[in-house]
Amino acid sequence: MALICESQYLRNMSQSPSQQIRGYRPLFKKHRTSLRRFLTRISKNQPRGLDARIRSLEPGVWKTVDCLSCANCCKTMTPTYTDADQKRISKYLGITVSAFQKKYLERERGGDRDWMNRATPCKFLNLSDNKCRIYSVRPADCAGFPHLRKKFDVYGHVHHQNVEHCPATFELVRRLKESLSLNG
Ligand code: SF4
Ligand code: SF4
Repeated sequence: MALICESQYLRNMSQSPSQQIRGYRPLFKKHRTSLRRFLTRISKNQPRGLDARIRSLEPGVWKTVDCLSCANCCKTMTPTYTDADQKRISKYLGITVSAFQKKYLERERGGDRDWMNRATPCKFLNLSDNKCRIYSVRPADCAGFPHLRKKFDVYGHVHHQNVEHCPATFELVRRLKESLSLNG
């Protein structure tokens, strides 16, 4: 999951909260199947130099995408909260870890039984400006989202999921597909 990330500092002041995500919804619908097929293909047969190619494309993505006009991750997904996250955030809020869990979190059903948000949108999202109220102490998962710079063989499955939720992921995968088709 995720969140107000690197592009917090690259916002386009002309866009109002949620304007960007509205523009991307029809694009997700139109291209998600072909982008997922592409991701599956390169997961099975990873092109040489893939991580370096992704790193070279990523800065261009953040010139187009503005998280503060989106916040779709904070509105529709949930981060996982590690023990360290919970200690840091509860201290910031001036409550105990147990009170923090009771008020905001629940255990994942199945899987690793991770701690996740009890509700969406995330209770720490300010819906009027898409800013995170606990930005300085937010979960590590939020700070790293959408994981575009991470190794593809570890995070490719995350992009597979996020290509229809996150404009930044969509842009990266679309550009990657185009770049690989141009370069053979
Ligand atoms: S969904 Fe992606 S583009 Fe939108 S706020 Fe989250 S990280 Fe940024
Ligand atoms: S903690 Fe902040 S960055 Fe993370 S989901 Fe909630 S509002 Fe978004």
